[in-house]
Amino acid sequence: MLNRLPDHETLYKHILRRDPEMDGVVYVGVKTTGIFCRPICPARTPLSKNITFYGSPDAALAAGFRPCKRCRPMDDPNAPGVLIDKLLRLVEEDPSRKWSEEDLREMGIEPATARRHFQRRFDMSFSQYVRARRLGHAFNTIRKGDAVIEAQLDAGFESGSGFREAFAKVFGEAPNRARAARAFAMDWIDTPLGPMLAIADETHLHMLEFVERKKLQEHVERYRRQFNASVLPGETTALKHIRREVTDYFAGKSLTFTSRIAGAGTDFQNQVWDELRRVPPGVTRSYQEMATRIGRPSAVRAVANANRLNRCAIILPCHRVIGADGQLTGYAGGLWRKQWLLDHERRHAGKSEAARI
Ligand SMILES: [Zn+2]
Repeated sequence: MLNRLPDHETLYKHILRRDPEMDGVVYVGVKTTGIFCRPICPARTPLSKNITFYGSPDAALAAGFRPCKRCRPMDDPNAPGVLIDKLLRLVEEDPSRKWSEEDLREMGIEPATARRHFQRRFDMSFSQYVRARRLGHAFNTIRKGDAVIEAQLDAGFESGSGFREAFAKVFGEAPNRARAARAFAMDWIDTPLGPMLAIADETHLHMLEFVERKKLQEHVERYRRQFNASVLPGETTALKHIRREVTDYFAGKSLTFTSRIAGAGTDFQNQVWDELRRVPPGVTRSYQEMATRIGRPSAVRAVANANRLNRCAIILPCHRVIGADGQLTGYAGGLWRKQWLLDHERRHAGKSEAARI
């Protein structure tokens, strides 16, 4: 695991800043105390020479460190918690159900614990999640042509005005106009480089990005406004597909993607993105090469911009485009991720090629 992480000095710079992006990605073993921490631990940062980095809490435990009581690294926000999985399953069994704290206690779940876990994972409490899911369910019912009143009953809201208010808050419009808007589903995918947020409709992927947990809501809000669409936790065929592909990618099983992407760019951007998808894994191109390949050799800067604006990280492999001098240049997800992805692809590209022959 360690060789997949950025080097020691880079990591140390991140933990000096208590960079939330590293939370769930790296764990900090402190040799002088025998304790290991999350990178965002509020305790004083030890000297660089007293630190060993680990890629998982298990690795730190195996090396003999015990978990810090302040930042509680075993409570890993990235590991799909048993509690979260159980609750998600129950919610999906009946998305229209209303949940009380009593319901949770009857199952031996402390409501405050559920709230904390959900807050950490989804940036919303369990009850907010249930409410959003219930509204999403009602929204789909309306789209299928049922009367608003039925959706209202489905959603379990006693009064019409209460329902409309809640709906407006989440979707930014009244239920009667819901048919005009689009509905996107979102989910996160755990990767060795941190969680990725995926947004898709039934058939096409609209976004796949590394997202800092704290900025999740911000991203979703921007997306809602930009596309006049509702974005709610959910599951679609496209999401299932991309989840499988991303998992296979990080496992080194397959570096190619067949997911369909909603081309939401200008003609020029779509042209650049199409060309991006033709850059094979294990290969890098310069911005100049990309510009030449699309027949616009002087549009280097515009190519770089289009590259930067693509919203489907990894699938549209903008990380395979580097400076003419071999420098990595920028990457929205951070240069260390770009380096990791290129190393990973170099390691596995030959293998999957051989598998195809
Ligand atoms: Zn700690």
